[in-house]
Amino acid sequence: MFSGCGTAMLSDESLAKRSKKQFSQMKKSEQISNNQSHQTMINRIGRRIAGVAQVDLPGTDWEFVLFEKSEPNAFAMPGGKVGVNSGLLTLANGNEDEVAAVLGHEIAHVAFRHSNKRMSQAMGIALGGVILNTAMRNKSGTDRVLATGAYGVGTTLGMALPFSRSQEREADHRGLYYSAMAGYDPRAAISFWEKMESRKKRKMPEFLSTHPNPGNRIDFLRSNMDRALAIYRNAKLARGEVPNP
Ligand SMILES: [Zn+2]
Repeated sequence: MFSGCGTAMLSDESLAKRSKKQFSQMKKSEQISNNQSHQTMINRIGRRIAGVAQVDLPGTDWEFVLFEKSEPNAFAMPGGKVGVNSGLLTLANGNEDEVAAVLGHEIAHVAFRHSNKRMSQAMGIALGGVILNTAMRNKSGTDRVLATGAYGVGTTLGMALPFSRSQEREADHRGLYYSAMAGYDPRAAISFWEKMESRKKRKMPEFLSTHPNPGNRIDFLRSNMDRALAIYRNAKLARGEVPNP
């Protein structure tokens, strides 16, 4: 599958295939939450937002799974595999708009193919090392990198490599509009990040280790809020529902 070099190695198709495989392994090795109503909730919210994002990612096989983990974290893998920790729902405390803010953010990472991009980067670095060592005399060096895990596809697909700050900004921006278009109150993004910030003062939350703060995140969300609110209100009315005041 990874016999070539360059971009073909990181084609959307092969990455989606690999992450699908890894996600199903995770579902076996990690504890899945047995809170059925929370699982149903993230599935419902996730699918509603994915429906809006579908125009950017046609044909994606979305899957939303709730893992039993206390750290408030969420991740998204290429191909539309999204994991949410139960601790994140604890932090959101029943506020579906806040859950939607997180899922909008994660789905935006997928839509922008951010994992693919940071993996390409990591791979470039890994291959650089290989070229210095062995690849000059052996073309299968690429395979060795993949096999030995220097490429780290197993763990870096969704989690280990933090997104860059500019990727975080992109995900904040588009995620805000995705959730608003799906009829979720975009102001929840602010209340959610405020909760994260206050948690950070006590302990570095895992979410921020993989989704670094791009700086002035809340200010940035505020500066987009008028437009997002207008979109949200229209979306709610179109759904025959009453928007929050
Ligand atoms: Zn992020």
